[in-house]
Amino acid sequence: MSESKDFLRVKVEEDLKIGKYKEVITRFPPEPNGFPHIGHAKSICINFGIARDYNGYCNLRMDDTNPSKEDTKYVEALQDAVQWLGFEWKDNLHFTSDYFSKIYDYAVQLIKMDKAYIDSVNEEEMRELRGTVKEAGKRSKYASRSIEENLELFKKMKNGEFKDGEHVLRAKIDMSAANMKLRDPLLYRIRHAHHFRTEDKWCIYPMYDFAHCLSDYIEGVSHSICTLEFENNRDIYDWVLDTLELSLPRPFQHEFARLGINYTVMSKRKLLELVDGKYVSGWDDPRLPTIAAYKRRGYTKESILNFCDQIGIAKANSMVDVAQLEFCIRDDLNKKVPRVMAVLSPLKVTITNYDGFEEIDAPYYPHDVPKEGTRKLPFSKEIYIESDDFMENPPKGYFRLTPTQAVRLRHGFIISCKEIIKDSNGEICEIKAEYYPDSKSGSDTSGIKVKSAIQWLSAKEAKTIEVRLYDRLYKNESPEGLEDLNSNSLQIIKNALIEPAVITQKPDTRLQFERQGYFYADPIDYKDEKPVFNKIVGLKDSWAKKTKVKKQAPKAEIKREQIVGEVEALSEAEQELFDRYTAKLGLNTEVANILSRDNILSSFYEECLKINASAVSLANIVVNEVARELKEKQIDSLKFTASNIVELVQIIDNGTISSKIAKEVFEELVKTGKSPKQIVEDKGLVQISDPDIISPIIDEIITKNPDNVEKFKAGNNKLLGFFVGQVLKNTGGKANPKVVNQLVAEKLHS
Ligand code: ATP
Ligand code: MG
Repeated sequence: MSESKDFLRVKVEEDLKIGKYKEVITRFPPEPNGFPHIGHAKSICINFGIARDYNGYCNLRMDDTNPSKEDTKYVEALQDAVQWLGFEWKDNLHFTSDYFSKIYDYAVQLIKMDKAYIDSVNEEEMRELRGTVKEAGKRSKYASRSIEENLELFKKMKNGEFKDGEHVLRAKIDMSAANMKLRDPLLYRIRHAHHFRTEDKWCIYPMYDFAHCLSDYIEGVSHSICTLEFENNRDIYDWVLDTLELSLPRPFQHEFARLGINYTVMSKRKLLELVDGKYVSGWDDPRLPTIAAYKRRGYTKESILNFCDQIGIAKANSMVDVAQLEFCIRDDLNKKVPRVMAVLSPLKVTITNYDGFEEIDAPYYPHDVPKEGTRKLPFSKEIYIESDDFMENPPKGYFRLTPTQAVRLRHGFIISCKEIIKDSNGEICEIKAEYYPDSKSGSDTSGIKVKSAIQWLSAKEAKTIEVRLYDRLYKNESPEGLEDLNSNSLQIIKNALIEPAVITQKPDTRLQFERQGYFYADPIDYKDEKPVFNKIVGLKDSWAKKTKVKKQAPKAEIKREQIVGEVEALSEAEQELFDRYTAKLGLNTEVANILSRDNILSSFYEECLKINASAVSLANIVVNEVARELKEKQIDSLKFTASNIVELVQIIDNGTISSKIAKEVFEELVKTGKSPKQIVEDKGLVQISDPDIISPIIDEIITKNPDNVEKFKAGNNKLLGFFVGQVLKNTGGKANPKVVNQLVAEKLHS
């Protein structure tokens, strides 16, 4: 469990402390009307996770009250998802339909208490009588039926004597309630439909609002955790359980924010539309956000669990960037999987000065993966390289093979291009090259410097594979419907090539194809005669870059982006920089990665370092702020210099300004080229760390927000952020966040 507790766990602990429940019992209650998606994974992690953390248990309950949409195949998919994520329901698999008799009895009890009645108005009338947010509703004339008549009608409903829609059972609550949900909600409706479990036994079905609370009660659930859209249903939940005067303890409902991810849809209804309409190949199509799809694509359960942990549990809905999920899978696979070489778009290279055949020993894992294993790479006169690893007229910054630039074959020799062969269309179809016999990786005495190493395969021994590349299913961030589908979300390469050991030794089902990304042997379509690999994820986030470039950059630049491409691994020179940045200077890998890949940026960084600045703070400014400017402008048209940036870093490091204000100073520096110290002075931006100045501001905000103070004291820790935010806002971002945090916490706890 992570260190700081979420509000649900805080609540559970409070309830245990006051002895409200002997045991924590939660449930995951999906409707089996579609395959579970990653939002469900979040709910599974919360419900099963809380039960586990407090030594209770979690029921898996199929909420099967809508016969026309439900099916056993969805029940199986739900079970599979829970199991795959590593949770167990043991013997606690339940179905709401198992409680139909009990729920019916509770309904009869409500009728007898004169708390429910049979209504017989049609849908339209019912809607009209409900009123509006501003106007109270009116009760239908049928609400005055006697208890006896209601009992009689309800029985007849159950016995199938009426048609669908002829009557409904409604709770008698309050037609003028401000919460519209309380305006005599429906409890039962007539549905002459075949149910996948109870078959034709029932023709009336309880509504969610009636079935859910009672199922929770019947199962002895303590904490009924659901998503925020049920907040208004909570009043019905409580009304039903309280009105029936059920013996305690009874469950209570708590809501959290549902997960939304950009570039995808997250509702079973919309997913069903994609599956039924054959826009995807099935519920497990690797482009979907279903658990089955992630599983098929090659995501590990660890990556999904980690993601659910990272996004946390909040009380406000928000959209999570899919890049975060991709980060989690990349991060997990990076530590685990073998590195091999594959070529997706082969270009033949004939090494004219080589004859014969040899096998090169190459490790499967880089130094920092604590795993052993090597394979043999066949090497011969005819090899294949990736076609975009050669360019006849390369732009600046292209580090791979060109007519004048040698390149290293990964784990092998350095080669240089001697001749370009073109076909009748003028397309390059072959390169004639020479190798340097004394340049073999690991025993290189050639003295030749190259800027990168590329993957390659010996032509004769390479094996053909099918590769399926996936892109975002939707082209925009918040897709509405089918018109937003990305028509290029699937690319199938039938004749890609891979080194033989992957097929014969099968070192793993998940592999990194060097410089291409992570791939997974498709669990269904992979055959030894016809291997198929799914791309799980690229080696770095390429999407943000791609869309940005497409929007505004001139053509030439697009080209450069494509070449630099998503699958580019570090060249040897870049690797050297990267290693120094991480090992010697202590930069995190992400920052080091950005710096070492960008010549201009890293030279600027080096220049600043020479002047004197702390490596980590400097790197952050360079990568986050300077980089943006350098992307848009030529370096010699910038108004600021390396020494300006060094000065900026110094005044952040010594506490003169906060890093938030630093952004403002930087903006001004970009515009005017004035020295950062001068800017701070002119604009009065010095950071405020003095508690005597900050304290009264906090006091004022606390006095102004008594509701939030109360909520905070009742356990809503998230509100700490609210108060800190208010103080920062009040001081124009000048207050020292550390000091504010500490003072706010002290004051709220006192
Ligand atoms: P959908 O709209 O996708 O069909 P749902 O809410 O109808 O979802 P259910 O099968 O009824 O799906 O949900 C089972 C549980 O999973 C519920 O407790 C629900 O709150 C939770 N859940 C569903 N979607 C999400 C989500 N996006 N994020 C977090 N929890 C979710
Ligand atoms: Mg639903």
